[in-house]
Amino acid sequence: MATGDQGAVGERSSPTGRELLGRPELNRDAAFTAAEREQLRLRGLLPWRVVPIQEQVELELEHLRRKGDDLERYIGLAALQERNQTLFYRVLIDHLEELAPIVYTPTVGQACREFSHVVRRPHGLWVTPDDLGHIPDLLRNAAEGDVKLLVVTDNERILGLGDQGAGGMGIPVGKLALYTAGAGIHPSHTLPVSLDCGTDNQELLADPQYLGYPRPRLRGPEYDAFIEAFVEAVLEVFPRALLQWEDFKQHNAIRLLDRYRRRIASFNDDVQGTAAVVLGGILAELRHRGERLSDQRLVFLGAGAAGTGIARMAEAFMAREGTEPPELRRRVMVLDSRGLVFEGREALKDDTLPFMVPAAVLAELGMPAGPRHDLDEVVARVSPTILVGVSGVAGSFTERAVRAMAQGCPAPIIMPLSNPTLNSEATPEEIMRWTDGRAVVATGSPFAPVRVGDRARVVGQANNVFVFPGIGLGAIIARAREVTDGMLLTAAEALSQLVTSDRLKAGAMYPNLQELRSISREIALAVAREARSEGVGQLRTDDALESAADQEMWDPSYLPLA
Ligand code: NAD
Repeated sequence: MATGDQGAVGERSSPTGRELLGRPELNRDAAFTAAEREQLRLRGLLPWRVVPIQEQVELELEHLRRKGDDLERYIGLAALQERNQTLFYRVLIDHLEELAPIVYTPTVGQACREFSHVVRRPHGLWVTPDDLGHIPDLLRNAAEGDVKLLVVTDNERILGLGDQGAGGMGIPVGKLALYTAGAGIHPSHTLPVSLDCGTDNQELLADPQYLGYPRPRLRGPEYDAFIEAFVEAVLEVFPRALLQWEDFKQHNAIRLLDRYRRRIASFNDDVQGTAAVVLGGILAELRHRGERLSDQRLVFLGAGAAGTGIARMAEAFMAREGTEPPELRRRVMVLDSRGLVFEGREALKDDTLPFMVPAAVLAELGMPAGPRHDLDEVVARVSPTILVGVSGVAGSFTERAVRAMAQGCPAPIIMPLSNPTLNSEATPEEIMRWTDGRAVVATGSPFAPVRVGDRARVVGQANNVFVFPGIGLGAIIARAREVTDGMLLTAAEALSQLVTSDRLKAGAMYPNLQELRSISREIALAVAREARSEGVGQLRTDDALESAADQEMWDPSYLPLA
């Protein structure tokens, strides 16, 4: 599977002529050679000249760049995917930096919103409450091959856009395109799934063109039974597949992950992938400085799926370095929309309880237990070395807080991660100004480099795509029956080792996106070795894992057919 398209053309029942051109997994458009055209009854169906794939790539790019906006480019790329799969992935891999923001966030968000009006040929599997009792048949029907990876959403928290109903399908489709581009997992081994259990988005329910299940969302025991039936069906039909939970609302995200992660190999990218990518960048920067995570003080602004996930993984890493639990409560502080999370505070959510600052520590820091403690105050008292923004609120890193942080720390690590760009907690340019250019900044959305004196400081992007393809590929080649915390921590560490010293010197914290395939391969091997040593992966030698990775990583090209 390492190279070539599916190569099945020419076999006994394989299509020829017009039918062949209509099959995206086999079609090559004008790249069919003269001999192939002759043999496959394509003569006269294509213009004369045979166009090699590299020229096709350039031509597709020319078409895309000519379009008026990114949503049009998204639609153009979706049409290419439905016409010529090999070419679609070749274009995406060769121009990942330019096209990842179109295939996935931020443009995919707009496509999800307008889904019922822009999508022509929806693909993937749609499961609704009407299908209860038949889900195994639906899975068999939708699979194009041996499914090894499913990305599944219930559409309730699509990016930062809330409940998008059936439009949420854009996310598993886009994410799987990145799994294929980044880790080479062949599209026929993947399945995007929308668990369309209704929507509470009134605008969608009122839209006569709405394509999804036009009822209010299932809730409570009915919702749980729906998810349970789906998981059971996956275990029955694809018992060795990996399931990635995607864009579930925070409470369900964490609850379902905890409920199912030992029953079915699964992970949640919003929670665990985010944690691994953020920790990976921080560890890379600390390695460059020769410092330990346990010696840092971390403040998180935002205690949702992302914030609690990152804080949890950072604490697990510190614990591995030998930090005792009481010390963790001094080193990691979490704020939500009501300020610092501390013992005895009102309106604490279950997911934030592990991060409550004990009364004694609060007193040590000179903060009384009663009132609200906002970011300015927490920074002034705690003097953090690392500040992570996952609040979704633009401008919530105040000038005062950032300046105070820079006073207590020579090179603060500041990560305004909220997406899209306009929601960033501060812009990199502001942060550099407020810290006299001393900060190391990474963001959630892409930002241009910032000039500091005569140097350009690169702004790294903490993009989950640096880890999820590698985690998925690693679990697949290990044939892991579970994705453990250890495997995710290993992914973070592996990523941190892969950021070059040149990137770190430039302030980037993260690699260049164009290196994604080699990064994914290394992360996958590390994850698979960890699965083996924890006893959740099939026992395989390092050599066997390497050749499994090479076999699994599809590199889209046209193999000769005639
Ligand atoms: P969420 O809705 O689960 O959590 C948001 C949290 O922010 C909640 O705890 C809320 O109480 C808190 N909050 C809201 N307003 C606040 C304020 N003014 N001050 C402090 N806290 C406030 O969302 P999530 O899934 O955790 O995502 C949060 C943000 O992180 C999103 O903007 C998302 O785009 C971004 N994110 C980035 C990456 C990445 O860069 N790789 C990954 C995941 C999420």
